[in-house]
Amino acid sequence: MEAPVYEESYLYRLRHSAAHLMAQALTELYPGIKLAIGPPIENGFYYDVDSSVPIREEDLTKIEVKMKELAKLDQRIVRIVAEDRDAARTKILEETTLGQGPEVAEYKLQLLEAVPDGQEISFYDQQRTDRAGVLHRFIDLCRGPHVDTTKEVKHFKLMSIAGAYWRGDVKNKQLTRIYGTAFETQEELETHLHNLEEARKRDHRILGRELGLFMFSPRVGPGLPLWLPKGATLRDTMVGFLKDEQLKRGYEPVVTPQIASIRLYEKSGHVITYKDKMFPFMEDEEKETYILKPMNCPFHIEIYQSQMRSYRDLPVRYAEFGTVHRYEQSGEVTGILRARGFTQDDAHLFVRPDQLLEEFIGVVDLMKTVLNRLGLKDFKARLGTKDPASDKYIGHDDNWTAATSAIEQACQKMGVDYFVSVGDAAFYGPKLDLIIKDALGRDWQMGTVQVDYNLPERFELEYIGEDSKPHRPIMIHRAPFGSLERMIGLLTEQYAGAFPFWLAPVQIAILPISDRHVDAAKELYLKLRDTHKLRVQVDERRETLGKKIREAQLQKVPYMLVLGDRDIEMGTVGVRSREDGDLGAMTLEAFIEKITPSR
Ligand SMILES: [Zn+2]
Ligand SMILES: [Zn+2]
Repeated sequence: MEAPVYEESYLYRLRHSAAHLMAQALTELYPGIKLAIGPPIENGFYYDVDSSVPIREEDLTKIEVKMKELAKLDQRIVRIVAEDRDAARTKILEETTLGQGPEVAEYKLQLLEAVPDGQEISFYDQQRTDRAGVLHRFIDLCRGPHVDTTKEVKHFKLMSIAGAYWRGDVKNKQLTRIYGTAFETQEELETHLHNLEEARKRDHRILGRELGLFMFSPRVGPGLPLWLPKGATLRDTMVGFLKDEQLKRGYEPVVTPQIASIRLYEKSGHVITYKDKMFPFMEDEEKETYILKPMNCPFHIEIYQSQMRSYRDLPVRYAEFGTVHRYEQSGEVTGILRARGFTQDDAHLFVRPDQLLEEFIGVVDLMKTVLNRLGLKDFKARLGTKDPASDKYIGHDDNWTAATSAIEQACQKMGVDYFVSVGDAAFYGPKLDLIIKDALGRDWQMGTVQVDYNLPERFELEYIGEDSKPHRPIMIHRAPFGSLERMIGLLTEQYAGAFPFWLAPVQIAILPISDRHVDAAKELYLKLRDTHKLRVQVDERRETLGKKIREAQLQKVPYMLVLGDRDIEMGTVGVRSREDGDLGAMTLEAFIEKITPSR
């Protein structure tokens, strides 16, 4: 069944009415307040207001109470259509200002002028007749639609306050934006609030700091993370895993520089197609212009092109954990999910047309292996195809058809759920994007595979075929993680920082009970580190065992090994697990055996 369009749903009207109800409450609590706009949005609604009295977060409860009071009055919500713009203006000045003078209608009058000619101008009127028979009204210029009575607005909560410029223009006055949310049932409202709280607890920016993974510094600049020892260890673990998988699949490592002459990016076309995302160019004393690398592809192409290739040499698969820099707008930089400097788990495959299917199967298989290992089991793939109505695409139709079909066959063969999204292809070829559903049901677009007919053409790439004639290879770009940063951001939120054993930056914390157990603890540390290749820490501070356990637990260390007199005497360790608590004393061998399956 198709989900109804949000804009046409009852929930959308309900939230719009909640916004109006809030506006009514505000006019009663803050006489003289000027109302601007108040639309429903994803997950709720807001209203922008201009108040001479500042409105703060602590006032939200008071406003909520007033809204509840007004909602219960069962005000009818009536649509009124103005005859023309003049009639609407009169109505605004006479009926919406509630006798507070024409100034309070400042923004509404501007909105009225912005209504296009010929469009119906409507108002929504919240009406009720009190016991004395007096009619009370709250009229707001609005396109609607709304619910029938304020009584329907029951399950709502005001969330936060922010500043917002009138009409989104920084040159205009800054208004106060009050955000709220509303649902049809109390249960849905509570679920939503619970999910927000969960998301907050899992926020990778907060956990990243608490767990010592990464940090940002204003002296370094926005979107440029500094990886701390534990975060760097996590990266190394992920890189090591993927390197092994790639080696098994015939990839070869390459390493390329951070900057290149502008000539490389002129050849690739990025100087034109990608200029917005590049850091400002640099010029040296010889007037040569250099560009900070925004992507690795052109470098790998140079390597491919550095020698004559025969059909027997293909496929060539060059892999690089390539750090790139892209000039994201400062407003769009979000922790490590959208950073200005990040590392792609990049590779470029140069293949013959007859190898496309097999190579695609290999790439899809690798992606599946990666996601499985990371414990990300809930994912689907989006196949971006050409929009037949557009002419922005390059390359022959036959190639497109062959590549699209190869991707589909690869997904089918590997049992990957996919859906086709027409028009989502890159201009140079079809692509497959992985969309992962996390523990809170949120979708994350992660790894990608793209077929490219453009760059081989631009660089005039060749291989000598069986017929001794030159042929053009096809290029595949692929990144199963997407980037290390994005994937670590996702994993941090997915696991709320409690990474699976094999990924945990510190896998085992050794906790000596007192000073006299420290030597034994250090001995155990060396054994675990050198013989068993585990990532271990000893907490040799003079703290109580209780405190050491609590901190290791907060750091989400999978196992704690407690060492006391009895353990040293018996040759055992007291094992505690992050998930299951105290597991009792066991020999080191028994412990190693226990953790082996999760390594
Ligand atoms: Zn409205
Ligand atoms: Zn690429």
